[in-house]
Amino acid sequence: MIPARTSVPRAASRAGKALAAATLVGLALGLSGCAPEPEPEPKPTPAETTTPTAPAPTTAKPTPKPTTPPAPPAFDKQARSIDDPASIWVVTDKLRPLAPKEYEPADLRMPQGFVNTNGQPLRDEAATAVEGFLGAAAQNGLNVQIISAYRPYGMQVELYNSYIARDGQAAADTYSARPGFSEHQTGLVVDLDDGSGCALSECFGGTAAGKWLAEHAAEHGFIIRYPQGKQEVTGFIPEPWHFRYVGKELAAEMKRTGVVTLEEFFGLPAAPGYAD
Ligand SMILES: [Zn+2]
Repeated sequence: MIPARTSVPRAASRAGKALAAATLVGLALGLSGCAPEPEPEPKPTPAETTTPTAPAPTTAKPTPKPTTPPAPPAFDKQARSIDDPASIWVVTDKLRPLAPKEYEPADLRMPQGFVNTNGQPLRDEAATAVEGFLGAAAQNGLNVQIISAYRPYGMQVELYNSYIARDGQAAADTYSARPGFSEHQTGLVVDLDDGSGCALSECFGGTAAGKWLAEHAAEHGFIIRYPQGKQEVTGFIPEPWHFRYVGKELAAEMKRTGVVTLEEFFGLPAAPGYAD
């Protein structure tokens, strides 16, 4: 049998209130020389509460204590250079060529453990990050491979010229960067694919891998550099396969604020086309 319980909590409640009142009197007497903070009102015990009570009007009490935790320190947008091609925050677009245009990273290495169809390296930090990113994808049953990574200046010259020969310069400029303007030359970029037939195509964003990678990129320090609806800002059509390493802090801050392009985040001019 369950014993009748109604009288015990009420008795305990009365005892508790008496004790609280005594404590308040003691505090008032003992601390009269100080400027004590206002005592919080004793909360009603659950046994006494039969219906939810409306919150007390805030105007009646002096200086209510803030209930939200203190805000974290503001994100420092100047913590790293956006101009130095060796900075993981470097912003390269059609108005911001790499300086120098022939920049070559000093710490390239091959990412390990995943198919890398073109055998292109990455900067050490980006390689480590992509190993973690693709490792996490693999743990979720997604077989993601690298199809493009660092491309040196000379290779971009050949690639860009081949696109012009095929499609004309106006079309080529919408999907391929001119030499010296390519993010791939930073060694911080990977193009990813899952072999489902959407390589380097917008439909990659609709694949299981494309969705998972977009959702989890920031956790590994990556952003989708050319998101949907931002061609007038970035100068490029959506590229859901092109992941740019910017480090976890910046990727997390962009996700938190919902600002999806580097140009908008750093207050840079939109770069829909080249200056000349
Ligand atoms: Zn790319």
